[in-house]
Amino acid sequence: DSSVCAPLPVLGQDVTVPLVTGGEVTYAALDYAASAPALQRVWDDVAAYAPYYGSVHRGAGYLSQLSTDLFENSRRTVAEFLGCRADDQVVFTRSTTDSLNLLAAALPADCQVFVYETEHHASLLPWRNARVTYLNAPRTPGQAVETLERALADRDPYGPALVCVTGASNVTGELWPVKELAAAAHAHGARIVLDAAQLAPHHPVDIAELDVDWVAFSGHKLYAPFGSGVLAGRADWLQAAEPYLAGGGASRKVARRADGGVDVDWHTTAARHEAGSPNVIGVYSIASACKALTEAGFDTLVAREQELVRRVREGLAEVPEVQVLSLFGDDAPRVGVISFVVRGWNSSHFAAALSAEYGIGVRDGLFCAHPLVRTLLGSDPQDPGECGAPEAEPGERSLNAIRVSFGAGTPDEHIERFLRAVS
Ligand code: PMP
Repeated sequence: DSSVCAPLPVLGQDVTVPLVTGGEVTYAALDYAASAPALQRVWDDVAAYAPYYGSVHRGAGYLSQLSTDLFENSRRTVAEFLGCRADDQVVFTRSTTDSLNLLAAALPADCQVFVYETEHHASLLPWRNARVTYLNAPRTPGQAVETLERALADRDPYGPALVCVTGASNVTGELWPVKELAAAAHAHGARIVLDAAQLAPHHPVDIAELDVDWVAFSGHKLYAPFGSGVLAGRADWLQAAEPYLAGGGASRKVARRADGGVDVDWHTTAARHEAGSPNVIGVYSIASACKALTEAGFDTLVAREQELVRRVREGLAEVPEVQVLSLFGDDAPRVGVISFVVRGWNSSHFAAALSAEYGIGVRDGLFCAHPLVRTLLGSDPQDPGECGAPEAEPGERSLNAIRVSFGAGTPDEHIERFLRAVS
């Protein structure tokens, strides 16, 4: 139950916001899936390091050396957090979006890519310059595996191929059968990248155990909101590719050629894709968050969060106008990310009322997963239509949804207030 452990201390728990009805209330941040509040521990670690801040990989001074050590130690911490194999590389990026675009830029020639239409746009869109097959939305985890196996069986068996899949949906919170999908991909000679943006903050991710080739996630969803992300996994494709960004730090040696051009010898380590002065605060904060979550113990964090998931689901089930969105069925296991619509309500108005009348921050819209939300709302996933907040008259279908999401820092009171407000 939620008493298995206290919520982890996060910033912003005492922030008060004005209510439209007068007075003020402490803010209930229930939009962890967009950006989670910083763990107090991450903030403290960053504050303790801040006076020693220096340039990374470029400086002979003591503080530059110290920052370089912190940066490289952070890489080891993240590798440990993800259970990386000995020859995996951890590349620091700006975000999951950046990580997946980096991998897309590093695909071998003629690579075929397989991606479900249900993906977040960050994992749906970066492959558009490759030969992409978009897979239809499955309605069970088993169907997800079958759909992939069928598509892979038809592929050109000699060329390289990549499957891209989410670990936990940013819309329904549902867990995808990553291990089975990885086995299917590998059985057909394809590789697989896991979008762990929503999985990593809620669930241990072990790259070797899941047997995925790459994992991508963002610091700001993992309680480290300082603009950094990770792409971890196989080195070969990354090192065979042109650097993601050309510049200092990625190049080992640069010289003018006799013919007037420039020769570059690029690094073959993670640095190849980390040109420019790195975001040492962002990287250090990700490592701090990884340590904090590991030390708190994922088992207890998951047990507590699952109790909150149970309460939200039961509470929402008591309100007849509420329809919870689900691809795999109501009982499918999911993390603390739940989307729903309320009959007779425009979702944007509903979310605005939660904020104005109760000080609760949720998200409304199509959550950067337009085809998935359209499928879940029963509208045509191929309809380019309006993505804003169209009016839903009583009895009319809502064209967008409301998402409540929570995690390691969420106190019981936020969940209780949310359920009271909805009912
Ligand atoms: N994938 C998923 C499943 C996400 O939920 C998100 C963020 N909403 C992303 C990718 C993109 O993450 P970021 O915005 O940090 O690049």
